[in-house]
Formats: sequence, structure tokens, C-alpha cells
Amino acid sequence: MSPHFPTLLLISGAMLLMSAGVLALFGSSRSVYRGYWAWVSVQLLVAIGVFASAFNDQYPQLLVLANLLTLQWPIGLLQGLRRFYTRHPLRVPQMVDGVLIATAYLLWFGTWVVFQDQAPQMVTFGAVAAVLHLYAAVLVVCLREFKQNSALQLLVLALLAGVGVHALRVIDFISHGNTAAWGTSHAVGYTIFAVLMALSVVYAGMLLTHERTELRLRYSKRRLRYLADIDALTKIPNRRRFHELSARALIGNKSAETSLLMFDIDHFKRINDTLGHAVGDEALRQLGNCTRDTLRELDVAGRLGGDEFAVLLPETKVDEALTVASRIVSSVERQPIAPGIARLSLSFGVVQLQRGETLIEALRRADVALYEAKRQGRSRAVIGQVGEGKPAFARSRPLGLAAV
Ligand code: GH3
Ligand code: MG
Repeated sequence: MSPHFPTLLLISGAMLLMSAGVLALFGSSRSVYRGYWAWVSVQLLVAIGVFASAFNDQYPQLLVLANLLTLQWPIGLLQGLRRFYTRHPLRVPQMVDGVLIATAYLLWFGTWVVFQDQAPQMVTFGAVAAVLHLYAAVLVVCLREFKQNSALQLLVLALLAGVGVHALRVIDFISHGNTAAWGTSHAVGYTIFAVLMALSVVYAGMLLTHERTELRLRYSKRRLRYLADIDALTKIPNRRRFHELSARALIGNKSAETSLLMFDIDHFKRINDTLGHAVGDEALRQLGNCTRDTLRELDVAGRLGGDEFAVLLPETKVDEALTVASRIVSSVERQPIAPGIARLSLSFGVVQLQRGETLIEALRRADVALYEAKRQGRSRAVIGQVGEGKPAFARSRPLGLAAV
């Protein structure tokens, strides 16, 4: 029993209408992106077109509408993709789509007006439809995401099925010259194409939306993490992150020698009071840059708060840590901080971590050594030692130019 083509067309139209409905429901229940509603519209329009062509026998004039609505599908689909991928636009300008669809409409409509016979009308329609489908398929293949995206691949399959169905129609009309030649293969071929049209657009609409949402979520998570971890002014880890990174570095550190620097700008309040908070901020920013640029990859820097910073130096003896402190000072001295600041003077407390000592305990010793550096006149580094009850200092070394 050969299939009844109008019935198959009605089924195809119903499937396309359902695909538009599913997409519309999906789109109204969540946030979708540019181009999404273009896909819903093309599905709706093509569904109307297919329904109209099902009544071709009773109302032949509906064929014009049916064909015009069918021709918009590949180009409408492309419009949606162009809007969705605005960041990586296709090389072929959008104007070409417009010129192609306008030419296709003119050709089809012209043939329909000039020829009363259906054969040339259908040949023109089939030919322009095949060209439009092929053009859209080639452009989708050219999208950067094509190779990794199964939805785009399915769309191309549907578009190529469209090329096949319409090209076959042209060949049949040319060889038989009338609609009676439409056989089972046409009916089945067209129905398979309609299934692919419905499925591919629903799948693409949902998958592309889902992937974009996931991408944005990942980006937001990364951004939130960054905001929670990194000091906004100096762009180096904040106190909490410094502790986290240091703990991680200490676990992974095979050598027993780890040193810790704690440092602070001398008379920073004066800068704020005399030159303003903005200049103070700039000084902190520059100090952050100089610190970051001086350190190795495995070192951990952090802004503990205010004008106080710390650096954990794995695989570093205390004398080498003093050299690092000197390097930070030299880097700061080379840096023009802001008009009105001749230079920025720093004081350091330096300790070497003892076996079994926690980071908090080492930070406390470094803080005491830093306090001692301030007491001794600033612009210097003081090495803190493990004392018996009271703080002990091994050495004090002046750094850079004299303290202010
Ligand atoms: P000392 O030599 O003893 O360190 O003196 P100091 O003036 O630097 O005193 P202290 O380190 O205690 O003061 C830190 C000042 O840093 C206090 C606060 O007003 C200022 N401050 C803290 N956070 C910021 C900031 O984000 N921007 C600016 N501009 N100033 C800050
Ligand atoms: Mg200070």
C-alpha cells in the first residue's frame, strides 16, 4: 500500500508544529539567548507551509504560500545561528542571506506568474530550495563550534536531507514533467526530512541554550571565586586565600626550609593624610605589582589587610629570604609610585619556619619581628628567632634608602 502523501504532509506539519510548541514552552520557562525565538518562528512558519501544501489538491493557490514558507526555513535557521553566535560571526556577511532569499522568492514567484503549468513552477521551487538548503548547510559547517557540537551536526544533516529531497524533486519533474510522477519514495523522503527538521531544531535549540547557560555558570563561578580570593586593589590573594595557598604549599613542600616575610609600608597614614586616599591606593597597588613580579611561581603572596603583606617562600633559607626582601624594596624604589611620593619605605619581619611550627605561629613570630623593625627605625628587615618565652632577633638589616 503506497502512502497517502497529503496525510504524510499533515503528519509532518503536526510534528513541525509540535517542535515549535516544545521550543516555545522551553523558551518561556527559562532564559534563552539571542536567536532562540528565530528558531521557534521558522518552525512555526514551516509547519504552516507544510499544512498548506497538504491541501494543494483542493486549493492549488495555497501552494504559493506553502512554498514561500518552506523556502524561509534554511535561511531563518541561519539567522538564528548568526544571532546566537554574535561573538564569532560567520565570514559570509548576513546581507548574502538576504540577497539569496530575495532572489529565491523572486524566481519562484516569477515562474509561478509566468507559467500556468505546475512542472516549471515545481522545478524552480525545488532548485532554489536545494540551493538555499545547501548554502545554509555549508555556513553551519563553517561555524567554529561545528566539529564539537552534535546539535550543529544534526542541523547539517537535516539541511542536506533538504538538499536531497528538493534536488530529487527537480530531477523527477525534469524527467517526467508532471506531478503524477510523485511516488512513494518522495512521500517517504519528504516525511523523513520533516522529522529531521523537527528533531534537529528542537535538539539544537535546547542543547545550544543548555551549553550557553553552563558556560555562563562556569564563568560566573570562576569570577565569584576570583572575587572571593583576590584582593581587588592589589590583585594578590587576600588573607583567607593566603592561608589556604600557604597550607597547600606547606603540604607539598619537600624541603624543610621555608621562610616567611611579613612587611608593611612605613608611615603609610602620612601618605593618605597628605596626598589623599587615592594616592595611598595607588601605592598599595604598585607594592602589590612589585611583590608579584619579584616572586617565583611557587612563592605565595597575600595582602593580610591594610598596608600589611606576607610572603611564604618554600625551599628558602632565612638569608635568602632577606635577599627577597631586598629585591622587593629595590623593585619598589625603581617604581614611580605617584606624584608626591619620593619613595615607599618598607619594614620586614623575616622568619624561617621551624619543624612542627604552624603557619599561624610563624606569622605571629614574623609580626613580632616586623614590630621590632619598626621600633628600630623602619626601612629594615629583622630576622625573628625562636625564643624561650620572649621574642628573639638574630639580625637587623637596613634595606634601601634610609627610613623617612
Ligand atoms: P607604620 O610605619 O607604623 O606602619 O605606620 P603607618 O602609618 O603605616 O601605620 P599603619 O600601618 O598602622 O596604618 C595603615 C594605614 O593604612 C591605616 C589605614 O588608614 C590605611 N589603609 C588601610 N587600608 C587601606 C586602603 O585600602 N587604601 C588606603 N589608601 N589606605 C588604607
Ligand atoms: Mg604601615
